[in-house]
Amino acid sequence: MKTTALNSFGQDASVNNHANSNTTTIISSDLAAPGYTYSPDYMDDRNLKSLSYDSSDTIAIEVNKSISDNEPLLLDSTRIYKPPVLDKQSRITDTFATNAPSCDELNLDEFEAGKVSVVWINLVKQGLGDWIKIPVIIAKGLANSGKNYNVFGLTAAMHGNELNGIPVIHAVLSTLDLATLYGTVVAIPCVNVVGFNALLREYMDGKDLNRQFPGASSGMASQVFAYAFLTKIAASFTHLVDLHTASCGRVNSFYVRADMNGPDTKAMAELMHPEIILHNSGQEGTFRGELTNRKIKAITVEIGNPQRFHPQYINWTVQGILRILSHYEMIPEVSQYQSTTILLNQRVSNVPPHTILCSKGFWIYTTVGGILEVYPPIGCVIRKGNMIACVKDIFGNILETVYCPENGVNIGCAENPVAFSGDRVLHLGVLMKPGEVLSKAGKENY
Ligand SMILES: [Zn+2]
Repeated sequence: MKTTALNSFGQDASVNNHANSNTTTIISSDLAAPGYTYSPDYMDDRNLKSLSYDSSDTIAIEVNKSISDNEPLLLDSTRIYKPPVLDKQSRITDTFATNAPSCDELNLDEFEAGKVSVVWINLVKQGLGDWIKIPVIIAKGLANSGKNYNVFGLTAAMHGNELNGIPVIHAVLSTLDLATLYGTVVAIPCVNVVGFNALLREYMDGKDLNRQFPGASSGMASQVFAYAFLTKIAASFTHLVDLHTASCGRVNSFYVRADMNGPDTKAMAELMHPEIILHNSGQEGTFRGELTNRKIKAITVEIGNPQRFHPQYINWTVQGILRILSHYEMIPEVSQYQSTTILLNQRVSNVPPHTILCSKGFWIYTTVGGILEVYPPIGCVIRKGNMIACVKDIFGNILETVYCPENGVNIGCAENPVAFSGDRVLHLGVLMKPGEVLSKAGKENY
């Protein structure tokens, strides 16, 4: 980056409100747009006077001398937007959602090997008498032979506002080479389509779908949906990675819930290389718990925060799933996924710096209502007895201070400052001690 101070590039200074002020011009060589001059009104608010490009690969930014004083303003090249190059070759299928066929249940025999197919599964009927349809992507390997191949399930948005799993699925599917894929990957990028459209975690009856499994053929709407999803789609899985995030008002680390007493689920959790592994044998009513009852090897991955994309966590999850597929010899080797689009142009690493194993976890709750402040950063290890949060009244008086009851790690915590009595403060993972025997039925208090 050059930082030579120049005069204006012959631009009409009357275009902005600082026509008579002294200016300093800063040059960066990072972008090229010959002959282009840009001077929007908002630049006045930022004390920027104009921004222009010359015929070479330089960008000039004029700022008011009053704020830059005699010091040249160094333009950090990372502050200049660089659009990603959309890789259209990496798309999953030629079939657009509006053209995808529908069918009443997933029968993998009906799909062609060596091809990625997309289909809408008619799940349950809704108010107008039409179907609620679930989008399903089927990647059936050309290398399949015999009957004993894996059907690897990937599910996202079981909670309708938990979206990080969607680009994870797109990335994994676009990476697969169908000619060498052994087995079948079945991905459902949005399970709770009703909650997804309403920007809500829950299903249309206000219930948490992930507490309704195995569901019922006749019962509450959410139970019927869960039952239909299980019997029409998920029953064919041999493995599952269920992709979630924190719920609204809370933030999560990148962590895995898995039964660490099961050799397959332990291997899947470790191959994910998350920031934290939480030993949990599966809560009652959860999708993972029900699949575990059916001898399907399942883990849950929690990927950051709801209703947004988190590029670093998305990339870590993609790499983790590819490692697991490779471990089961479904793909020949771990190919590092490279993307410019899902990562939203951000620099990301492929693996977190370390994984912390927790033998159990539990939530810490407020006992009073008020304004909640939570202090430990996500993923941070906390000593027993350290103050971790306080609740103040609306006049700023401290009503409650919250202390950490055990040595642990901040798996996730409240972000919403408005707390009622009994609101969640922090999800503490208790660090596994050397030689500790993991409980058979590891559960949490949520
Ligand atoms: Zn969830």
